[in-house]
Amino acid sequence: MCAFSHLGPEMPAAPRQVLCDAQRLVVKVGSSLVTDEGRGLDVAAVANWAHEIAALRQRGREVLLVSSGAVAEGMKRLGWSRRPHAMQQLQAAAAVGQMGLAQVYESEFRRHGMQTAQILLTHDDLADRTRYLNARSTLTTLLALGVVPVINENDTVVTDEIKVGDNDTLGALVANLIEADVLLILTDQAGLHTADPRIDPQARLLHRVRAGDPALESAAGGAGSPLGKGGMLTKVLAARRAASGGAHTVVASGREPGVLRRLVEGEELGTLFVADTPKLAARKQWIADQLQLRGALVLDSGAVVALLRDGKSLLPVGVRMVQGDFARGDVVACVDADTQEVARGLINYAASDARRIIGRASGEIASILGFVEEPELIHRSNLVLRG
Ligand code: GLU
Repeated sequence: MCAFSHLGPEMPAAPRQVLCDAQRLVVKVGSSLVTDEGRGLDVAAVANWAHEIAALRQRGREVLLVSSGAVAEGMKRLGWSRRPHAMQQLQAAAAVGQMGLAQVYESEFRRHGMQTAQILLTHDDLADRTRYLNARSTLTTLLALGVVPVINENDTVVTDEIKVGDNDTLGALVANLIEADVLLILTDQAGLHTADPRIDPQARLLHRVRAGDPALESAAGGAGSPLGKGGMLTKVLAARRAASGGAHTVVASGREPGVLRRLVEGEELGTLFVADTPKLAARKQWIADQLQLRGALVLDSGAVVALLRDGKSLLPVGVRMVQGDFARGDVVACVDADTQEVARGLINYAASDARRIIGRASGEIASILGFVEEPELIHRSNLVLRG
């Protein structure tokens, strides 16, 4: 009996509906697809994805692209047939190849009248809360402008200690960062099978699984392609990570014609990894789990009502006092006049700046501080109500 047979009955009745409903999608494309197995940038493939993503945007969906292929394309351009082991050589290849990636995405999206933006991230950018907030606001601003962010790891500067390491994981981190509904991992395989289909002819494609199922790891064993970093195991782990933020993941073949359109129309392509935790609950849990409170804001009664009853963000005007010393991105408590905690959240301003803008209208922030991070002290998506 298949180890996954228990996955069937507990699943939602129409699990693919989550893809039809998805508003914000992260699409990750692997090195072998982008570079046609290392032969060089596959312009036709990029043109197809650009065409599909343009169509998704027209239907009001927001799409971010995480693209691998910098090292593979750099190797091709430098005439190297084997992936080097030396870090400096990999970094040099990534720097060369990233130029090609940026160029091909820019020109293929331009054909659809769309702007692209290159975003190179390191693990630190996502682990450090200040930079986390910066990356998040930049990406959401780009999406609001209708721009397609094209994201890769900043391979040229990362070291072993600080690198994410593979773009499946990076895709999951980005999905969590911007609260995506789904992560679509396009690869050179049809999805997750019960065993490695290259070895076991009996292996069968799993259409849907629970992202958190520990049995998935054994099915996913085995290395990926020699070009990229991620095998099926990194995809399973990435799906689990994305699920911790409430996003569902699909692993599907990027060579399937019209793959993105067909997926968001609910067609049963590839493997769907269903997230157990609803998105909002997952994010709130993440904020609530940030153990160290770095300070507190004493709210006036109007702000308490705005937060608790109206589900609003916290504006500087509703805060009477700032306690403690904290940086942008730290977690602070919001307390009422009786020092009862009513909420906690990630604050947009350091304590010294917050002290200068409390009690003032958001429109005055620029003239008081000389810069504006955000009009809110704490945005409602970064706020967890207590009790
Ligand atoms: N960032 C690497 C590149 O662009 C890819 C990492 C991966 O294959 O997951 O070459």
